[in-house]
Amino acid sequence: MIENQNPAPIWSPPEGYIQVDSQLPGVTVYAPQPEGPTTDQAVSYNCPHCGANVAYNVSAGGIACEYCGFTAPVAPTRVGKSADSFEFTLETLSQARRGWGAQRQVLHCDSCGGELSIPMGALTTTCAFCASNQVNVITTPEEALRPRFLIPFKVTPQGTPPLAKTWLGKGWYHPNALAENVAVRNFVGIYLPFWTFKARVDARWRAQVGYQKTERIFNHRTNQWESRTRTVWVWEDGRVNLNVDDLLIPGTAPKHLSHAILKQLYPFQMGDLVAYSPDYLAGWRAQAYETTLTDAWEMGKGTIREDAKQACYQKIRSSQVRNFSMSADFSDESWRYILLPAYLAAYRYEGKVYQVMINGQTGVVAGSKPVAWWKVWLAIAALLAPGGFLTLIGLPLTLLGGIGVFAIALGIILFIIGAVIGFSLYNSARKSEVG
Ligand SMILES: [Zn+2]
Ligand SMILES: [Zn+2]
Repeated sequence: MIENQNPAPIWSPPEGYIQVDSQLPGVTVYAPQPEGPTTDQAVSYNCPHCGANVAYNVSAGGIACEYCGFTAPVAPTRVGKSADSFEFTLETLSQARRGWGAQRQVLHCDSCGGELSIPMGALTTTCAFCASNQVNVITTPEEALRPRFLIPFKVTPQGTPPLAKTWLGKGWYHPNALAENVAVRNFVGIYLPFWTFKARVDARWRAQVGYQKTERIFNHRTNQWESRTRTVWVWEDGRVNLNVDDLLIPGTAPKHLSHAILKQLYPFQMGDLVAYSPDYLAGWRAQAYETTLTDAWEMGKGTIREDAKQACYQKIRSSQVRNFSMSADFSDESWRYILLPAYLAAYRYEGKVYQVMINGQTGVVAGSKPVAWWKVWLAIAALLAPGGFLTLIGLPLTLLGGIGVFAIALGIILFIIGAVIGFSLYNSARKSEVG
């Protein structure tokens, strides 16, 4: 009689396998747990005491109810610079969480097409991007990736009008009425989407570098030795390694938010990054990225290539370079999707819309301002006048000899100096108008 002395151990499915529906009775089937977007319970933000809507309060650093005084701190999981990044694999994307993790609704602007995520029940009548009131609340599926990190607001909403007032009063070539009549009070705190990239870059360059060579040549006509300089072109090549860290690419489309203004808000102190929690967004607006990860990385690579090119040029010991070519190999690329705090406002001046932004962490203000062009032209005229005047006086004085020539020469020099300063003045005025 054969007896099974060693009964087979009870089989258990490998880790990560779960029991699934079986077609055969009596047969148990296990399959790997399906991977995909994990949906978790969306949180709603109501006061446990009085039921009113609660919001994240910047001064309190937590959730606060303005009706009964209930507060609950958000335990910040500070991750700072060590906030982990993700490799560029389909796996990390498919497993990433989606949505905001809280009940929120989408505000759609019919005028500019901008969309913002707003808290449930929030009353909003204007678009934060274009100040239009053609807005409506829509429901869209939450397909965007969930942010992993954010920097909480440090500047309170009450602190924004004084910052804007100081900023509006800066510069002399704006309309006098601007600082007096315009008060930007409609600032809206928004968590803006950003991608950050890390990468190692190995750049190889090749170029013809020009060097000045001085030669002594015997001139047969004058019967003398003369020195002559000429440029000698030499092919050179080299390698440059760059470590790119925390390269920020805005996730907001440029048509909704001027990237030129946005970049004037930099830098953000990345050491203040905390792990994302929907608590921070309670009562606040947020924007999901409009620029996809792939498109943002293309933009990022463009910026990095430009940096690498500059680094290569610095290795070249001459300022004369021609036929420059460079190949850049990227490795260890990784990304993060983060939210950064900003206040946005748009104001109208004589029918035109101007954008103002405040860095919600540092309080730096940037934006566009109307320009009183008559002031600029008057200043340019004043800059050109001395040189022009001196030259005109110098012309009849040439009849008297050397003094006239001296006056004209000085006049031309002053005129050129005035033109250079005037041109840079014109450029900065134009830039401040556009943003
Ligand atoms: Zn309450
Ligand atoms: Zn709009």
